[in-house]
Amino acid sequence: MSGAKGRINLVHLYPREMSIYGDLGNTRCLASRLRWHGYEPVVHPHHPGSELPDDAHLLVGGGGQDSGQARVEDDLSRNADRLRVLVDRGVPMLMICGMYQLFGRAFITVDGRRLPGLGILDVTTQGNAKRMIGPVVLDTAYGDVVGYENHSGSTVLAAGQDPFGNVKHGSGNNGTDRTEGAATANVIGSYLHGPILPANPALADALIRMAVEQTGASFEPGEIDDNVADQARTRQIRRLLR
Ligand code: GLN
Repeated sequence: MSGAKGRINLVHLYPREMSIYGDLGNTRCLASRLRWHGYEPVVHPHHPGSELPDDAHLLVGGGGQDSGQARVEDDLSRNADRLRVLVDRGVPMLMICGMYQLFGRAFITVDGRRLPGLGILDVTTQGNAKRMIGPVVLDTAYGDVVGYENHSGSTVLAAGQDPFGNVKHGSGNNGTDRTEGAATANVIGSYLHGPILPANPALADALIRMAVEQTGASFEPGEIDDNVADQARTRQIRRLLR
């Protein structure tokens, strides 16, 4: 029976302010895949001022304009301690672009405004006049990952901070050191839109596995036909790397 394997609480941080370039697709992808694997997804949209559920199993956040980031900042700092508890518990989180920057130490906008971040990822971002835009291919722990970047922020990893992946095509964190994103515990930050998860099912299922393990159960995957996503990804990689 659908949903019989258990209920998974999926929190989408700031879907109104921070969800551009199709990032809502990550939430939809996780909810659909959970259902196809036989779990019951419960999606909690978290808006500024609302309460984060204590029993969150998986968190996602998307990209946004600098102005959207400024609008969620107070709520993020109000929830900083709760988010850190979830990180320490091993709750998986995927933070894209603007939310990736706010999970870092700080984002300094192109006009010099400093938006403090949570410091969960040891990265700092400086806005620039020139944007980094285009398709991306990464080498990651989840295999080759494809996506699309569009950011003015140039992000630098502190010493010892692991990236999410290494750039095979595109700009990544800063266009110079070939790193992309950051990963700490089960938290992944990345610039990749697309949205990233439908195009990269192995990454989606890795997050789902960690989320299911948060419930104390082990992940029992269902049968999913990822042929179309796999073909699209392979084609993009071939086109960009040739
Ligand atoms: N405002 C940030 C930047 O341009 C984030 C952009 C985004 O989320 N796509 O760097």
